Amino acid sequence: MTLLQARGLVRSYGPTPALRGVTLELAEAEILAVTGPSGCGKSTLLHCLAGILRPDAGEVLYGGQRLDARSEADRSRLRRTEFGVLFQFGQLVAELTAAENVALPLLLAGKGRREARTAALNWLERLDVADVADVRPGAMSGGQQQRCAAARALVTEPRVLFADEPTGALDALAGERLLGQLTRVAREQHTSVVLVTHEPAVAAYADREIVLRDGTVDVTGLGADISAGT
Ligand code: ADP
Ligand code: ADP
Repeated sequence: MTLLQARGLVRSYGPTPALRGVTLELAEAEILAVTGPSGCGKSTLLHCLAGILRPDAGEVLYGGQRLDARSEADRSRLRRTEFGVLFQFGQLVAELTAAENVALPLLLAGKGRREARTAALNWLERLDVADVADVRPGAMSGGQQQRCAAARALVTEPRVLFADEPTGALDALAGERLLGQLTRVAREQHTSVVLVTHEPAVAAYADREIVLRDGTVDVTGLGADISAGT
């Protein structure tokens, strides 16, 4: 079933067109990779899909409802409860330990300290960073920081995870490890993922890949099914 849908998305920054009519669908529990050369509009597309950026034209539907017609308060609630986001730099809070960082979204959602800590430790375990639970970001490797950031993005059990170049700051090995763990956990949770990346190895982790070129979907990449795990 379709969870998220974009129809004819257009978005410019002043005179610079970033999206020139992008239409796509994301199914429930689907892992969709969005690839393409730098500047082709990947980030802009992800921000429109996540309700962070308003398109100039076109629409985004989430669960069949127009996202771009909702109020900012409503979109903000969606982002906290049903969407998770992961960026190139994890943006962990430097003063907090890994466990405290991962617990934060739950504390903000009103959960108790003990429950939040237990869930945080569980998610750190699932992303294979339980050993740094009481360590602050500055003393972790880049790969560990991103896996903690992934745990923080998933701890609220979102229905869609938006990941924008999550491996961009990692070396190839750490990048593949992150993608492997992130997509494995997403599959276990039935979380849909929009994965924007230039990482060539991404095809092995996604169900489907869309290639953007100059703000439009490159038809040669459209609907290309990828056999996972190859
Ligand atoms: P990608 O993620 O594929 O690199 P982007 O969505 O970041 O592509 O950018 C698409 C186009 O929009 C590029 O030409 C880029 O320079 C431009 N752009 C992106 N963000 C801004 C911004 N905040 N202000 C002006 N131009 C921007
Ligand atoms: P990567 O270093 O590529 O991100 P890992 O997260 O698996 O991959 O890290 C490998 C090991 O190296 C970890 O056990 C980690 O403790 C150690 N390590 C790497 N960089 C640092 C760092 N800057 N500070 C502390 N430990 C590090």
